[in-house]
Amino acid sequence: MRLVLVGPPGAGKGTQAEFIAAQLAVPKISTGEIFRENVANGSPLGVRARQYMDSGHLVPDEITINMVRDRLTEPDTADGFLLDGFPRTVPQAVALDKLVADLGSDLGAGLDVVLELVVDDDEVIRRLSGRRTCHGCGKIWHVDFDPPLRDGVCDRCGGELFQREDDLAETVAERLRVYARDTAPLVDYYGAQGKLVGIDATGPVEDITVRAIDALRSYGG
Ligand code: AMP
Repeated sequence: MRLVLVGPPGAGKGTQAEFIAAQLAVPKISTGEIFRENVANGSPLGVRARQYMDSGHLVPDEITINMVRDRLTEPDTADGFLLDGFPRTVPQAVALDKLVADLGSDLGAGLDVVLELVVDDDEVIRRLSGRRTCHGCGKIWHVDFDPPLRDGVCDRCGGELFQREDDLAETVAERLRVYARDTAPLVDYYGAQGKLVGIDATGPVEDITVRAIDALRSYGG
């Protein structure tokens, strides 16, 4: 199955992507994660991407599309994949349709389904302002509703927690503006292709996963 997750920042795409990809036994491809790894390694891609990421803007389409093209030609995607955070613009979606068509695999010529995680702006702001990331293992903690046992320390690896530059309040506001302007049009784009399925992404994480899997089951996932 070839699946795309869309939704605003803080909708829980990363968390749900882990569970859904495991359930479907396909690799999870998160463009945000790949960019962050490149930033951490100081690679040329990371150096270019960082300025956009830190200010809440999108990395230019050309850079992002090339990166995804490289990733989708790796052999582990042959039986499908789950994209988390890509596409984020209509030109990226058009490029993805073409990439998938060019892959020429047994899975057919297109994406199977686009799952939209629906959450409103107030909830997004609440979630992102309480979000902390572990320096050690990258795990994300929500200090308001799922705090670690010790303040500022990751329970999983003992690493120090920090607030990502792009989770600061003014950057979150900018990310939401960017989402409304550049990414929300994907809902119409995929709706018109008959591939969009939206689920309520509020409430306990496990409930959202159940809703997502149920929705995908109706698509044969
Ligand atoms: P995320 O973890 O998905 O919120 O991504 C973190 C940041 O990486 C975003 O705020 C963007 O700056 C950049 N990024 C991730 N995916 C994309 C994409 N598909 N297009 C452009 N920029 C992206």
